Amino acid sequence: MTDKLDEPGDWSEAAAFAASNPPSVLDNFKARLRPAEELDTVLVQFDLACRNCEGEAFHVGGYPKSMAEENDYGLAPGSVLLLPPHRLVCVSCRSSVPIFDPRRDGYDGALGNEYFGEVGDGGDEVSAGQFKVSVSYFYNVELDELNEIASEDGLRPADLYDAFGLSAEPIDDGEPIELDYECA
Ligand SMILES: [Zn+2]
Repeated sequence: MTDKLDEPGDWSEAAAFAASNPPSVLDNFKARLRPAEELDTVLVQFDLACRNCEGEAFHVGGYPKSMAEENDYGLAPGSVLLLPPHRLVCVSCRSSVPIFDPRRDGYDGALGNEYFGEVGDGGDEVSAGQFKVSVSYFYNVELDELNEIASEDGLRPADLYDAFGLSAEPIDDGEPIELDYECA
């Protein structure tokens, strides 16, 4: 369920298309489209609410990994990185919905290209804190190309985004969560 916007704003053709025909995963949420950002015409953003109960507070799921002294991520030792896949759990009704798995989602994932990044396994952890969540999809591709690839593979063009971001603002105490993935 997605609210449609009348004005395409300043989006590129591909982004404008994705704004009105969003990625498949958003079928499982109530997604409210944000207006186009003036300086970033390839970015399409949605604020998320629960499809089931329309609640706007989520717990964020992932696989926390504590960084060793030497790590490949250039992060401070002891800091915690949240590995994918990610899901969101509605605080009100406890619905649990996948939001991003790099092995399946985005350009490479949708086309079945191998993902070389790290993913969690075993059980994930769901944040104790509650968050308002928005997601960002980037389309650095011409709409023609997007349509051509999508139709060859029977995919939704908006699923072929080349980068994904998740931004979670804490409702209670806690630190914001920012997740960014290159998908192509
Ligand atoms: Zn809910």
